Amino acid sequence: MANSDEANICLTSTSIVEIENKLITWVADLFGYPAGHAGNISSGGSLATLTALAVARDSRELKAADFHRCVIYCSEFTHYSVQKGLRAVGLREAILRTVPTDQSLKMTASGLERQIIEDTKTGLLPFLVAATVGTTLTGSVDPVNDIADVCDRHQLWLHVDAAYGGFFALCDETKQLFVGVERSDSIVVNPHKGAYL
Ligand SMILES: *Cc1c(COP(=O)(O)O)cnc(C)c1O
Repeated sequence: MANSDEANICLTSTSIVEIENKLITWVADLFGYPAGHAGNISSGGSLATLTALAVARDSRELKAADFHRCVIYCSEFTHYSVQKGLRAVGLREAILRTVPTDQSLKMTASGLERQIIEDTKTGLLPFLVAATVGTTLTGSVDPVNDIADVCDRHQLWLHVDAAYGGFFALCDETKQLFVGVERSDSIVVNPHKGAYL
């Protein structure tokens, strides 16, 4: 390969990395994440979810011998990519709990906390909550700030699936729905959904 071609390729990939890094910083700022965040651009929401679950699993140093005792909390309206991702990261044996929803189809923080307490009492390992900001079926937004309080009290990983609703954080009318998202441990947003609007 001629030197000038090599130089061009280097230049191109440097620019692409810069675009990726700037986009990640922009998204992190949009949701109010503190400094020290890290991110990754992937081919879609499902792969991003899988990545977040792998990071959560490794950060919490889960041992394979304990996978069958790990509990993941979601709602009836959680996107199926969470379940698929759990399988892909080796957590097929983990327990997936469906937390009750209220009349507006939002996960209830009180129901979540009750279930975590019960699971802890019976020797299980409550591990992660998957809250959704804009469920695909109904558009309901789980109360992330209240759920973050529960996660803090019981030391669970808070994952926010904002694949569908995330970019409504750009609108003045809807940005209050995102209060507490900045307290989450991981988030997925999907440019090929809301950002197309
Ligand atoms: C679409 C969607 C996903 C998955 O995103 P893909 O890019 O289709 O893989 C995950 N969560 C929610 C809430 C979604 O609406």
